Amino acid sequence: MAKKWKITVDRDLCIGAASCVALAMKTFALDSENKAVVLEGEGDPPELIKLAAESCPTKAIILVDEETGEQEYP
Ligand code: SF4
Repeated sequence: MAKKWKITVDRDLCIGAASCVALAMKTFALDSENKAVVLEGEGDPPELIKLAAESCPTKAIILVDEETGEQEYP
């Protein structure tokens, strides 16, 4: 079964590298301050979101398992 993440971006850590946006365009976007924001809606498959989080050079993307509440990444 596919996992659902509660996704947050630590704005203090985000440096606007946009690798998350390149990988998961339906989940992340850059705002006017060049920081990543999490988009509402269906988004991308969990595997892709995990990849996007792993691609972040500053580990600014935090993934929490919605069911267990456990932090899965980083
Ligand atoms: S990959 Fe990380 S640093 Fe780059 S925009 Fe996304 S959250 Fe920010």
